[in-house]
Amino acid sequence: MVTYPRIAVIGCGLIGSSIIHAARAAGVAGEIAVADTNPAHRERITALGFADQVTGDIADAVAGADLVVFAVPVLAMGSAAAAAAGALKPGATITDVGSVKGSVADALAAALPDNVFIVPGHPIAGTEQSGPDAGFAELFQHRWVILTPQPREDDPYLEAVEQLADFWRKLGAQVDRMDAAHHDLVLAVTSHLPHLIAYNIVGTAADMEEVTQAEVMKYSAGGFRDFTRIAASDPTMWRDVFVANKDAVLEILGRFTEDLQALSRAIRWGESDKLFDLFTRTREIRRGIIQAGQESPEPNFGRDKH
Ligand code: NAP
Repeated sequence: MVTYPRIAVIGCGLIGSSIIHAARAAGVAGEIAVADTNPAHRERITALGFADQVTGDIADAVAGADLVVFAVPVLAMGSAAAAAAGALKPGATITDVGSVKGSVADALAAALPDNVFIVPGHPIAGTEQSGPDAGFAELFQHRWVILTPQPREDDPYLEAVEQLADFWRKLGAQVDRMDAAHHDLVLAVTSHLPHLIAYNIVGTAADMEEVTQAEVMKYSAGGFRDFTRIAASDPTMWRDVFVANKDAVLEILGRFTEDLQALSRAIRWGESDKLFDLFTRTREIRRGIIQAGQESPEPNFGRDKH
């Protein structure tokens, strides 16, 4: 059954196009309009034929839409919302998929009128690919979507939140609700810090003079290769994440640095029990992730990102 007769997706890259493919597959969308500022992407979206309307004008896309999904980089959310504000249908549900929630929720609330329902969100699913060709319908299957609703208790708002949760469930996802600040701390640990470490280690290897680039490539299966996949993630998206989630990332980075110092000391003083205990504990966490069904069966398919 159609959940929203008209959906507007603003920014149609990996996540935006995946939402469209998944919504089509689930039969939950009527008409789908897309606004994207990138002319080459608009050309591809038109050629791929998965949207009913493709435009560079955000106001045109959101006109008459029952659901508007902002799927642009985090720091572009505020200006995209401002461009939509005057054309929104009263009573429409407005959401986003940004990887940071506190600052995005504030930007949406500041830009949008009072007569729409703002329900910020974040699908914990992605790949290192970007652009409209990268999307696929199964991306959200068995993945979590975190909604960070506003602190409102009125029935129309709660119904809008439930309808959006239902939409995501029909796309194959599981839905959790969370306070935006807590989301940003949790994601700083589970996603943002791992990306920072990957960017850093790949940068360190690239700068080393004693170990050649050829050796780095040749022996990358020793662990480095997995970091290079994460470090290939979109530079704009990740620049925005670190700028927008500065406080939570710095807090987690402080904790991480202390723990790394402790590990360094354990290695220096030959405290093998400490190393063994930590490695045993972390192995259990890995097993827990597999048991929770959050490890993908094959590479390049619906991996967690954020
Ligand atoms: P993407 O593949 O780069 O797609 C974003 C699209 O939006 C691009 O076509 C981009 O054009 C366009 N765009 C940029 N600014 C715009 C604006 N002001 N108005 C309209 N279109 C605009 O990015 P993505 O990976 O889908 O990420 C989109 C959002 O999802 C981000 O907020 C990100 O934090 C979040 N997210 C990403 C992942 C992931 O794994 N990738 C996972 C969960 C959530 P240009 O290419 O010209 O900039």
